[in-house]
Amino acid sequence: MAEDTDPARPRREDSKFENDPRACRSVCTLGPSSSSPEAIEKLIEAGMNVARLNFSHGTHETHRELVGEIRAASKRTNRPVAIMQDLQGHKVRLGHADAATRIILRQGDEVLISHGEEITAERLGIDYPGVERFVKAGHRVFLDDAKIELEVIACSKGELQCEVRKGAEIYSRKGVIFPDSELEFPILNNKDLEDARFGAALGLDMIAMSFVRSADEIGKMRENLESWGKKDTFIVAKIEDGAGIQNLDEILKATNAVLIARGDLGVTLPREKVPGIQESIISQANALGIPSITATQMLESMIDHPQPTRAEVNDVYSAVLDGSHAIMLSAETAMGKYPVESVEEMDRIAREAELEFNRRNRGAHTPVAGMEGINDLLAASAVIFAEYMNADCILGFSIEGTTHRALSTASPTVPVYGVLVDHSNLRRLLLHRGLSLTTMPREKKLDNLVPHALKKLRDDGIVSSGDRVIIVARQPEPEANESFLLKLSILS
Ligand code: PGA
Ligand code: MN
Repeated sequence: MAEDTDPARPRREDSKFENDPRACRSVCTLGPSSSSPEAIEKLIEAGMNVARLNFSHGTHETHRELVGEIRAASKRTNRPVAIMQDLQGHKVRLGHADAATRIILRQGDEVLISHGEEITAERLGIDYPGVERFVKAGHRVFLDDAKIELEVIACSKGELQCEVRKGAEIYSRKGVIFPDSELEFPILNNKDLEDARFGAALGLDMIAMSFVRSADEIGKMRENLESWGKKDTFIVAKIEDGAGIQNLDEILKATNAVLIARGDLGVTLPREKVPGIQESIISQANALGIPSITATQMLESMIDHPQPTRAEVNDVYSAVLDGSHAIMLSAETAMGKYPVESVEEMDRIAREAELEFNRRNRGAHTPVAGMEGINDLLAASAVIFAEYMNADCILGFSIEGTTHRALSTASPTVPVYGVLVDHSNLRRLLLHRGLSLTTMPREKKLDNLVPHALKKLRDDGIVSSGDRVIIVARQPEPEANESFLLKLSILS
């Protein structure tokens, strides 16, 4: 395997610290608008931290190629990028339409739904057999994010007879939601398992599970990953419907990160409930130290226009102010006309929101903040210390990333520069707010590493004489089992 495609092998050349880092991380979905080497490079330069591959589309071959391109672009730009594999999950989808014909459903039309691979104006094939077992006359069916609404008139063996209530043009592979019916799904489906196994073999950094309903599903996925030798895979739980919200507490305890899937939430539940759900998931996740990603339609109008609407600017701003660790672009970067402009726009809005976020958080930290662990206390103390000392930044050291995670959870109001040894541990932290990370070769003693890291901060143009740096580390010492370091360095 070539060096740049082997994730287990540390790169010889370490990446630079980000200069003037944005705290909120940026996740971009890759697709036709963003798959070329140049396009990926531009997204990285515009601020992409995590590249999302949507496994509802594409083949293993196309995904494998894209992974190679992302890794190569990350190497060329010398910026770390994590790769998130997004599994399809329990989503019912339409079959394929004949490419040569347009299918338009009009209000009042009758249409049949049955298990099958084709869609025509008379019959819609879906990839779920026996749906009539769970559906009754009067139930609604939503197609393509509820752009089309049907009502079930009658159910018979193998098919549903429906009437179109809200019509539109219909496309292949769009999602089908039965908001009034409770369909049964296996805990994990075969497609997700095969895709996850493929992702594990490629060494992808994160797996996102769609429509997560219980902690059990995450546990089962972990068991499978473990059997493939990937015990510590970073899992992102996508909350997309009422079941996910019902079981949020247990899901948050089982996952590494949570994604607020506002697209499907707004279809499976009344959409006016989504803003409240977003706020509550972010704050529950923050209380547990779990990064949250706010996703979908953030800059939707930029799919076709070079500028967002004022309402979209407001939406991104408040997602950052609510305390999202990361914000995500979907179609904007995957198939829009302005992928790079969308990332740049998001970057500008997030930076503006962070000024306000920091203004509100300054002085609001309390040392305990519901946390008992020594790492959390140390991190909270470092953040308070930095604020009172008017420090310019925090410099943290960690092997596994525990110290950096705790610093991110403590809502720092100054940039945190984090040093790690290993690139794959670094990429696991790319959804965490407020961290700018790099790797440096391991040293026997922290006392040797600190001056090197301070020099790197100077060389990268981040600090200069007179600057105040708070240093945080968990320090193995020969005479003690463990000791913890919190120190202020004023640069000469
Ligand atoms: P999707 O998930 O883009 O994979 O559907 C996100 C959402 O539903 O918002
Ligand atoms: Mn979804």
